[in-house]
Amino acid sequence: MRAVVTGGAGFLGSHLCDRLLAEGWEVLALDNLITGSEANIAHLGGNAKFRYEKRDVSEPLRVTGEVGYIFHFASPASPPDYLKYPIETLKVGSIATMHALDLALEKKAKYLLASTSECYGDPEVSPQSESYWGRVNPVGPRSVYDEAKRFAEATTMAYHRHHHADTHIVRIFNTYGPRMRLNDGRALPNFVYQALSGQPITVYGEGKQTRSFCYVSDLIDGIFRLSQSDEHFPTNIGNPAELTILEFAERIRAEFPNAPTIIYEPLPEDDPKQRRPDISKAKRLLDWEPKVSLEEGLRHTLKYFKEQYLKMTAKR
Ligand code: UDP
Repeated sequence: MRAVVTGGAGFLGSHLCDRLLAEGWEVLALDNLITGSEANIAHLGGNAKFRYEKRDVSEPLRVTGEVGYIFHFASPASPPDYLKYPIETLKVGSIATMHALDLALEKKAKYLLASTSECYGDPEVSPQSESYWGRVNPVGPRSVYDEAKRFAEATTMAYHRHHHADTHIVRIFNTYGPRMRLNDGRALPNFVYQALSGQPITVYGEGKQTRSFCYVSDLIDGIFRLSQSDEHFPTNIGNPAELTILEFAERIRAEFPNAPTIIYEPLPEDDPKQRRPDISKAKRLLDWEPKVSLEEGLRHTLKYFKEQYLKMTAKR
């Protein structure tokens, strides 16, 4: 089996490449590196089954040779990233999604879209199940990501219904682990960077908003299982263990001997107040649930971030 992974040098895309290679597949990773990094795939350099090309999949997409599966993972995904690259985010969710789906039709390949819990926006219900239609501000700053992904889901379903493409959609909830960028602006990398560099930890708002963090190996396992299933409608993959952002900040703070202080900064516009996946569908259909505890996941992630921090400071 040969797969194309768009966003293959990103945080999740690179872990997916590892998993596909471990399954014995060949992988062609495409990435324009606006938020991805060649460092994430450097360890695959000598692998004959792996190839990487620096490409923007919002530009016309040609791939030679057989392709059996297309995983569309390209997109900025951290709120500060998609606010910095709003047009690129809209394009990769819309134009590039069509390119990837057209390639799937041309190659008679299966297709999996990396969608997001942001499709639920700032939800009125919790936990969020796949049947909830969401509450997204269509013109707010986050809409460039949320609406692009909602468009991507609609497009994927249209190709499935109209062209009978064999498609899958995963709604990914907050995920963490090695290869997250230390400066991507999300809560976990921010808190760790702040703690490592002796700055106060910035909690936005009062820190009462909730998130549920899934370790990357659990997420990739759920996605791989979904890719092998017959399910075409969106499926949540995430860890339902929910905590407030203040609790999360305290948890990170406790990892550092000189416990940094916590300061409060304004809550970003349209920041979701609660987020927790209902994973009953994934449990039922894929026999999947997360296995890695926050304690274990943080141990691996903090080790990675500390190495990254040393590299970063050594360069200065
Ligand atoms: N957050 C925070 N301090 C930070 C970065 C983020 O309090 O330095 C909050 C953010 O407002 C949100 C939550 O942490 O409520 C998770 O943010 P993140 O950017 O990680 O991802 P999101 O779930 O919003 O996509």
